Amino acid sequence: YAKQKGANHFSFYFDELNMNKAKLLILDNEMRKGIDNKQFTLMYQPKVCLTTNQVMGLEALIRWENEKLGYVSPNEFIPYAEESGLIIPLSELIIDLVCNDISYLHQSGFPNLQISINISGLHFQQYNFLQSIQTILERNNISAKNLELEVTERTIMNNDADTIRKLVRLKQLGFKIAIDDFGTGYSSLSYLVRFPIDFLKIDKSFIQHITAFADKQAVVDAIIQMAHRLNLQVVAEGVESIQQCNLLKNMGCDYIQGYYFCKPKRIDDIIDFLKIWEIEHQGWM
Ligand code: C2E
Ligand code: MG
Ligand code: MG
Ligand code: MG
Repeated sequence: YAKQKGANHFSFYFDELNMNKAKLLILDNEMRKGIDNKQFTLMYQPKVCLTTNQVMGLEALIRWENEKLGYVSPNEFIPYAEESGLIIPLSELIIDLVCNDISYLHQSGFPNLQISINISGLHFQQYNFLQSIQTILERNNISAKNLELEVTERTIMNNDADTIRKLVRLKQLGFKIAIDDFGTGYSSLSYLVRFPIDFLKIDKSFIQHITAFADKQAVVDAIIQMAHRLNLQVVAEGVESIQQCNLLKNMGCDYIQGYYFCKPKRIDDIIDFLKIWEIEHQGWM
């Protein structure tokens, strides 16, 4: 599968980043070393419930600071990791790091937060994806009910029978499933009916400038209504202002995530944020 897509993917990547071969070679080398040395870290960003004002969960977002390359955005290195296959060991490292932080959150008095992990399509499509994720959870003594998996439309559009089987099994195991960047993929909506999904995350491109453009509002409003008719909950990502927040609340959006409430932070800073949030929102309901 990777091979078949390889040529395209590479040229897309190459054009996008304007990288020469020498730089790609450095990236490849540094990523391999980085995975071995666990140079990758995670930041977390809260998702806030608009009806209770509680923090429902946190999204894990990978970060990479490298001595040769400096800070590299996941928008740059995740595509390369997928192209090179490094995404498999990297994903396993990410899930391991998340499990570690979940234990830490439990010890710190936050046992009920749902932690979401971005799952690469390539990892999801491995025949042993379920086995791979379960092994890591068991090793860390973490239950699937604490975890939400974010997959993109693109990931689940491929390979229907296998995808349904995996999603159904993940649900049985207790994972929640979210469709990330909703609205940016090849949106045949039929999969929403067939697949056992819990959340739609509306892509931030729809949220940006939402207060100024009636057509963006119409799209977001329609997504929320449709999702609710299908018993799905909606998360709006990239919410940066109180105006966006109020508009989404009036449309009945369930959760919001964005700089307006909190930028992604390392785990210790998130724990501080959560403690302050709890005090400030006590008795809010
Ligand atoms: P995503 O999963 O859609 O994550 C949301 C992105 O929006 C994150 O960028 C987050 O930092 C950013 N963001 C959050 N709030 C706001 C806001 O109010 N305004 C704006 N402008 N941006 C906001 P980030 O962390 O750079 O990640 C980019 C993408 O890289 C992610 O998009 C995801 O597709 C991928 N990614 C990140 N971490 C992982 C990971 O652990 N595994 C995999 N496979 N992919 C990851
Ligand atoms: Mg995500
Ligand atoms: Mg997203
Ligand atoms: Mg994205």
